[in-house]
Parts: sequence; structure tokens; C-alpha cells
Amino acid sequence: MPSDIRVRIAPSPTGPLHIGTARTALFNYLFARHAGGTFLLRLEDTDVARSTAAFEKDILDGLHWLGITWDEGPGVAGLEEAGPFAPYRQMQRLELYAAAADVLLAKDLAYRCYCTPEELEAERRAREAAKLPPAYSGRCANLTADERAAREADGRRGAIRFRVRPGVVGWNDLVRGRVEIDTANLGGDFVIVRADGTPLYHFTVVVDDAAMQISHVIRGEDHVSNTPKHILLFEALGHPMPVFGHLPLILNPDGTKMSKRKSQTAVADYIAQGFTREALVNYFAFLGWSPGTEDDVLAMDEIAGRFELEKVQKGGARFDRERLEWLNGQWIRRLADDDLVARLLPFTEAAALAGVVDRAPGEAELTALLPLVRERLSTLASITDVVGFLWRDLAPDPATLVPKRWDPATTIGGLTAAREALAAHDPVTWEADELEPPLRALVGARGWKAGDLFMAIRMAVTGQAATPPLFDVLVALGRERVLARIDAAVAALRAAG
Ligand code: GLU
Repeated sequence: MPSDIRVRIAPSPTGPLHIGTARTALFNYLFARHAGGTFLLRLEDTDVARSTAAFEKDILDGLHWLGITWDEGPGVAGLEEAGPFAPYRQMQRLELYAAAADVLLAKDLAYRCYCTPEELEAERRAREAAKLPPAYSGRCANLTADERAAREADGRRGAIRFRVRPGVVGWNDLVRGRVEIDTANLGGDFVIVRADGTPLYHFTVVVDDAAMQISHVIRGEDHVSNTPKHILLFEALGHPMPVFGHLPLILNPDGTKMSKRKSQTAVADYIAQGFTREALVNYFAFLGWSPGTEDDVLAMDEIAGRFELEKVQKGGARFDRERLEWLNGQWIRRLADDDLVARLLPFTEAAALAGVVDRAPGEAELTALLPLVRERLSTLASITDVVGFLWRDLAPDPATLVPKRWDPATTIGGLTAAREALAAHDPVTWEADELEPPLRALVGARGWKAGDLFMAIRMAVTGQAATPPLFDVLVALGRERVLARIDAAVAALRAAG
């Protein structure tokens, strides 16, 4: 049954896609999907000085990449803008705001204000000195027609201010319950259209939510203080009131507010670090919501099936990167081989371009490595932390080649003996379970500890102390490279001694 539920995400393209916007978009999307409603995207680009086409693209591409797709809204990924309320960019809807402002002016629910910035600044300072919260005095609220004409004589048009009615404004918030605010605390009559004719956020958001028949306004808690103004505007414009729901803020792990400076907030950065869309969606859904069961790893469809706004928490949601990495690892384990390889390739190629490794592996090579790496990847980019030594020329460093309990001479002896044991294998018997027994026998015969010899070999052939199991690593490297790397390590140790 088609539903009347219509929700939206209304990003301003004044910065890259923020995790908070992605979370809010996701909750709207899930709410619509769960109820069989409509999810739309509207670009609030009226802040012309700060809006850019690049930010717009980052936001649209990022949401689309996450799979948070809109039923109505601007075009993305080669698709055209679509929907019965187009255009979905506010700068293309300016006549609508002008018409709505005229209606409010005609009904005297708004008025022209001719106060200059200097006058307003003086007012602000006077209130500050008197320890009063900032508020417009209402100086232009009751001008006569003659007074207005006098002020417009020099061509000034004046800003348009909305008359804030006295009383209490309240709503039943889907997340927070009943919220009531005395309009005396709203800072007085507020500007809805600047003197230059550009409409402001509080106004455009209401005109568009009304025009686009938005049934539920679901957005971040930072908008709670805006909602009374919006309710007054809905009333004044005579539109049915949407239901409001304010999602908890996303906090740093220590409970402080996230900031662009201190926290990683751009979705693009998470994508660049190799988080999968599945894990990001899964994790964003948990920022304020939980299925109420132990299930952690949930796909978009499963989440949409269970999602209820009533289950959204009021308190701030702490962003726990470790949990995100864990979830990412879980999703990496679930991907089909060819899918995972296709997603890894751009990361290995980028690592080669950046000089993190000396060459990029091909598809077949990566596919063969999957059993070795899959469970060890927390991000797609971490592939080069796990097995980058396969694609890197090593420069042996004598300082790191010697295990803790060994000295250089013992290490040279250990590596030389190990090389001999390994060289006895031909490429046919170069298999993990063939290589291990002779090295263990060597350890026993010499009275060494397996951990020491294996660490010496690991450092010699990979240059790193943490790797997948040693014998699998030897197989992945191949006989020739293992022998050559041990030779180079021994030579470096000799040269240093
Ligand atoms: N453009 C506003 C923002 O990005 C939209 C807020 C709203 O959802 O009403 O914060």
C-alpha cells in the first residue's frame, strides 16, 4: 500500500558530505523504506558564498555510493533530476520564496525592516551591556505607510522580518517527546528575506517542506532550536504541520562534540581509507538506533525491515572507530571473492602510485591471496599493511633483523641454517606444510626457541614483525624471493658486524 510518508534530506553544499548528514539521510531513508514512503533530496544552496559545485558532487556521490538513494531529487551518477516537485535546488526555486514572502507581507504576518547593520549592532551591544540575550527590538514592526515610504525614498527595499507571535510553541517530537518553547526566547522577529532579496534558511526550508508535502521532518538535534521558528512559519503560511523528530548528536568517543578540526567527519575520508559501504551504513544506523537484539552485522535491507524511529535514543551517540573497523572486517569477510578483489584493486593501485609499495598486484594474484588476508583486513587499504612486503623491494635493516633474545652472530647462524633447510625444497614441494617440519627440526637440533628463529626469518623476508602465518608467507613470496631476501639479510648483518 503506498504511504503518504514523505521525508527528506536537505543538505547545504557548503562542505563535503559529513557523517552527521549521512546518518540523518540514512535514518530518513530507512524510515521511508520501512513504511513504504518517499525519500527525497533537496539541495539547500542559498548560501551562495559558501556553496560549491564540488561540495554538491561530493554529497550526492557519497550518499549514492552508500546506497542511500532518493526517489525524488537532483540527478546523480548519470541520472536526471526527477520528481513531481522539481527543481530540487533552492537557487532554482527563488520565485516560490518571493511569492510566499508576499503572502506574509500582505497578511501583515511579516514586515519590511530598514534597520542598518550599524543600528542593529548598536542594539546588540546595548543588550549585551544590560546582560540581556540578543533580540530584535521591533523598531520597524509598526511603521506607518508614510514612514515606510520615507525610508524607501532613497531606493532602499529593506529586509523582510517575520512577526513572532507571543505564546508557547510545542510539538510532540518523535524522539524527544513533548518539547515546548516560549516564543519570547526566539530573539524577536526574525529576518526571512535579506534586503538584497535572498531568502534565509528558516524560510526556504518551510516553504519547501510545505511545497514538497513533507510529512516528517527528521533531522539532527542541533535543529531543535530552529523548529519553533519553523512551526510559526508553517502556521502563518497555513500549511499542515509535519511531524518533527530530532536525532541525537554524534559525539567523539570522549563525549565531546565532534568538530571538523578535531574529528574525522568527512565520509569521503572513510571511503578513501577503505571502509565498505555495507559497514558504514551498518555503523551509521547504530549511531542512535539499535535493533534491540544482539545482531551487529546487518545489511541495509535487514535494517530497513527493523527500523523504527521510536527506538531512536535521546542521548548523544558516541562515534567508536574501533567498532566501525570491527564491522568493516566483518563485512570484508562476507564479500564474494571477485567483489572483494574488485574493491581491493584500487587500493593496491593507489598504494603503488603513492610509493607505499613498488608494484601493484594483478587480479589473479590478489584472488590467490584472499585466504591469507581476508580475515586480517580491517579496511581495504590495510591490505598493504598486511602483505605489502609482497610488492615492495626490501632494504634489510640490521637493527631490526635481530630477535630480542638473539645477538647478530646467532641471527646470522640461524638464518644461514634456515636458508639451507629451505633451499632443499624445490618449487614443487614449496608448500606450507612441507616447509614447517624441517625448520622445527632445526630449532630442536640447535636448542633454539621456534619463536626466535621464525621471527628472524619473518623480519628477513618481510621486514615486519606482524604478518600472516610465516609458512603461508613463505609460500606467497615464492622460493626464489625467500632465498634472496635471506641472503640479503645475512649480508646486511655481516656488513654491520
Ligand atoms: N540545510 C539544512 C542543513 O544542512 C537542513 C536542515 C533541515 O533538515 O531542516 O542543516
